Amino acid sequence: MSLIPVDQALEIVCREFSRLESEEIALDQALGRTTATAHFAAITQPPFDASAMDGYAMRADDIANCPATLKLVGEAPAGKSHSGMVLPGTAVRIFTGGPVPTGADTVIMQENTERPDEATVRIMTGAEKGRNIRPRGNDFSEGQNLVDGGTVLTSRHIGMMAAANIPTVSVTRKPRIALLSTGDELITVGGTAGPDQIVNSNNLLMSSLIRENGGVPVDLGIARDNQASLEEKIALLKATEKIDLFITIGGASVGDHDLIQKILGQHGLEVIFWKIAIRPGKPMIFGRFNNGPMIGLPGNPASAYVCAVNFMVPALHIMLGRETVGAPQSRALLAHDVPENGARQDYMRAHYVENTDGEKIVTATPRQDSAKLSTLAHANCLLLRPPHAPAATKGEKVKIVLLTP
Ligand code: AMP
Ligand code: MG
Repeated sequence: MSLIPVDQALEIVCREFSRLESEEIALDQALGRTTATAHFAAITQPPFDASAMDGYAMRADDIANCPATLKLVGEAPAGKSHSGMVLPGTAVRIFTGGPVPTGADTVIMQENTERPDEATVRIMTGAEKGRNIRPRGNDFSEGQNLVDGGTVLTSRHIGMMAAANIPTVSVTRKPRIALLSTGDELITVGGTAGPDQIVNSNNLLMSSLIRENGGVPVDLGIARDNQASLEEKIALLKATEKIDLFITIGGASVGDHDLIQKILGQHGLEVIFWKIAIRPGKPMIFGRFNNGPMIGLPGNPASAYVCAVNFMVPALHIMLGRETVGAPQSRALLAHDVPENGARQDYMRAHYVENTDGEKIVTATPRQDSAKLSTLAHANCLLLRPPHAPAATKGEKVKIVLLTP
């Protein structure tokens, strides 16, 4: 099989996924979830004309010439309206959020008034009609579309929906992603590593990336590099309830111990493509297994991560029905020269800072070793170099893929 271009691979992957079912959840559980439908205001906000200031409510006609002296006829704090009318020559003491009494059309802030006595207010500086009043429905009206389907809910959306008295939200169910690590050398984090062993970092790298993108990781543990161990994990996968995407890590390449294609192949793996023109991450497998999509990630952490950002993250977003799919891209100016690129699309681990003009200035990590987690952890973007891109010099504009902050 020849190497498949990244864009073509992405198109093929995206075709295999569609939006999952929706579920109704409490608004206070909805942070980070993706709306399945549009949501509409259940009430009008504010529900009445409300004061935007602590001050006095009166008729604008009465304060055309200032100072003007008015008779105080009552109070309207937040949560309690003044029952009477504001007639010509009178005013009501009002507080922020208080309902503007009938007859009044203007609020003058406290700072622009004097109180000669208990029953009188003197307005020192006037204002035009309507000043300091938030009219009914100024924020939103009952039935108004507040949030479109496909929106990832933030604290700000949730605050607005609470104000609109929306107690439950229709969201897309979280995609369940099964993760199977493979390798004789792996131990679980917190264990004691033997002389030839390393910690299974990819499991937590991937499960965290899945959570960051709205999914639920389902850990199938570590399969050893032998048929029996892999078959035990295949049985575990089959016994696990509803998996939307099956991810294997490691064993995807051509080495003697790379058994994924061979063993899964004996159990029905249908390979859609294998090997992408990407660096790092060339040996990624995409296929169908156990009646669902399967991604076979390479084992080196940076390779696994770059492939996951490029293919697993868009798959998750499609399953969630998100308005925007995939990691966001941006433009940046090179902080240094970069050499010409080879035949594979390169995703260099990199770090950008913003200069005083708000432009992004990007520096590639000096050593692009796909086994290095220390450089991956401190990257905040991937510097994208298309196949056969010519050498680029300091100050040139390049594309970057933004990573989760
Ligand atoms: P493989 O793709 O299985 O040939 O693995 C390539 C490299 O990645 C090897 O050095 C493995 O030790 C390493 N590796 C594989 N799986 C993991 C994992 N889950 N966590 C950390 N490193 C891994
Ligand atoms: Mg291996």
